[in-house]
Amino acid sequence: MKSLELLNELQEANIKLVAVSKTKPIDLILEYYNAGFRVFGENRVQEFVDKYEKLPKDIEWHFLGHLQTNKVKYIAPFVNLIHSVDSWKVLKEINKQAKKNERIIDCLLQFKIGREESKYGLDMEKTKTLFESDVFQQMNHIRIIGVMGMATFTNDKNQIRQEFRRLKHIFTSLRQTYFQNEHSFKEISMGMSGDYQIAIEEGSTMVRIGSLIFGPRNRN
Ligand SMILES: *Cc1c(COP(=O)(O)O)cnc(C)c1O
Repeated sequence: MKSLELLNELQEANIKLVAVSKTKPIDLILEYYNAGFRVFGENRVQEFVDKYEKLPKDIEWHFLGHLQTNKVKYIAPFVNLIHSVDSWKVLKEINKQAKKNERIIDCLLQFKIGREESKYGLDMEKTKTLFESDVFQQMNHIRIIGVMGMATFTNDKNQIRQEFRRLKHIFTSLRQTYFQNEHSFKEISMGMSGDYQIAIEEGSTMVRIGSLIFGPRNRN
């Protein structure tokens, strides 16, 4: 299994590899689990819950798709990290559902760094409003541990690099302003199959890789 080399290589560099298993069947995921993979990422709630129920319980489950508020309750009992917090509203709901489940859920704030219109994400202004609000101060069941972003789907490596650089910059600035005493704020989730090397050069701590590990998909 060639991707095992990648797993080991990234482990040595202290970078977390999230194996993005969306659309892939249980049996295939189990093969990777048996080879040593423990962190898997999914982007659809129903599929995520189904796989959680059927697969070994020591898997670390990451959610990385756009999350609708009314679906947070299904993943709140077990999700380990939500990469895709792209609104205030969803964060409030995650806090509420985490409380119900007597948990603290780790989250990343997703920033819009790419050019595509459709990409969900926060901007600095919304984030500042959030962090400076009383409501946020009272959200005791979520922990923001970093940021996430997706670069534009393009062949222009320079553009991709600039976008990752921007995310790193956003991370640094948030850390200085709001998280100076919180060592848990340390993750930069950036890099996918096509651009993870650039992401790592620009300071990624977590890469989300699907097709390079599992082969091509029919849908996203
Ligand atoms: C699908 C997906 C990935 C993985 O994409 P690949 O190009 O297959 O590596 C990473 N991040 C998110 C948010 C995704 O939806």
